[in-house]
Amino acid sequence: MKLLTIAGAAAALMLSAQVGVAQQQFISIGTGGVTGVYYPTGGAICRLVNKNRKEHGIRCSVESTGGSIYNINTVRSGELEFGVAQSDWQYHAYNGTSKFEDAGAFEGLRSVFSVHAEPATFIVSESSGISGLADMKGKRMGIGNPGSGTLGTWEVIEEAMGWERGDLALAGQAKSSENPGELCDNKLDGFVILVGHPSGLVQEAIASCGAKIASADTPEIQALVADRPYYRSATIPGGMYPGNDDDITTFGVGATFVTSADVSDEAVYVVAKAVLGNLDDFRKLHPAFANLKAEEMIRDSLSAPLHPGAIRAYKELGLMD
Ligand code: GLU
Repeated sequence: MKLLTIAGAAAALMLSAQVGVAQQQFISIGTGGVTGVYYPTGGAICRLVNKNRKEHGIRCSVESTGGSIYNINTVRSGELEFGVAQSDWQYHAYNGTSKFEDAGAFEGLRSVFSVHAEPATFIVSESSGISGLADMKGKRMGIGNPGSGTLGTWEVIEEAMGWERGDLALAGQAKSSENPGELCDNKLDGFVILVGHPSGLVQEAIASCGAKIASADTPEIQALVADRPYYRSATIPGGMYPGNDDDITTFGVGATFVTSADVSDEAVYVVAKAVLGNLDDFRKLHPAFANLKAEEMIRDSLSAPLHPGAIRAYKELGLMD
């Protein structure tokens, strides 16, 4: 009798252990450099997901990566379940254009929601003499690391301006987290990043060496915005950073949160609901989220179709019919 009970208990234990393993699911989010806004965006999403881990069994973790293009490629290969990506690169990946022409359209790319705006932000040293994009010819510029959306968009800017790579005295491709140090050590005259505001790395460059933000409103850029649906003109408001009191005119894209059609409806539902169902909490997790609106997040800047798991969450939350 006693033996039987022990055997029964052991079987029950084994069963519950198996159920535990089956229920635990891991999801990873590809982000960007640690002092950008993608990395804390991934952190904020995971924080809201992990809060209810006991109920849904999904454990969310964040990876610092090279940025948008790397994230889309790793979501495509199935290595990561989710990624943050610029709306221009989401568009090109889904349509198989530009940098994604060789790989072909990523038809399984799915949108979850969009996040903050990402103006093309040119941070320059005081001594560089740069005040706008046209002054950057012949200068030492950080243009984004391989895999970043920034480098991809810089290449578009370069072409629009009619420049060759050799028109820069130096085209640095270090990680975004290294750019403020390079600028303040006078190894660069400036660097570019498409990023939300305020961002840690812009704050760092300004606090360490009084860096300035330069404008990008040349006729070539205005033509680019007029020609391409995924670009819009953008303003970095004066007073966002100390010593940068004037509004800066530039152009930009939106940060979006993407996944693959291969990721389960349940996982995407849990993530979409954790964020859109707790938007007040989400907004408080980064100052770049302060003005996010639910109806815009589920619609704007999204070229790839919404994942069915996200649609289920938005219907349940009354955000969609
Ligand atoms: N938009 C940038 C990129 O894809 C990353 C910005 C960030 O790290 O916040 O390269």
